[in-house]
Amino acid sequence: MNEVLASTLRKAVYERLDYLDRLVNEADLPSRASLADTEIARLTAAWRSLLANHEPDERGRCRACGGWRRRRPHPCSVWTTAHKNLIVVDTRSTPTTGRHAAASCLPTAG
Ligand SMILES: [Zn+2]
Repeated sequence: MNEVLASTLRKAVYERLDYLDRLVNEADLPSRASLADTEIARLTAAWRSLLANHEPDERGRCRACGGWRRRRPHPCSVWTTAHKNLIVVDTRSTPTTGRHAAASCLPTAG
């Protein structure tokens, strides 16, 4: 992919995320419910596809991260980001940097 296409792709994805954020924050309840019907399925499919590309190989290393000589150990940053955003209950109310950041990444009970 050349630089122009990569930039266009990146811009389009960020614009879509901005659009969804605006809907979540500004739309009325029926509109948000409608959004959930379509966008949650799309987002879970996107996460599954992304995570499938980063599944560990037979040696416990990410199939996508790292160079051809040395793959990164699993879990890679994609999996830790998924865990942080999908499993941790409320990342907005917990620190994401600093000495308490690691505690916010712990799985929740239940
Ligand atoms: Zn990876």
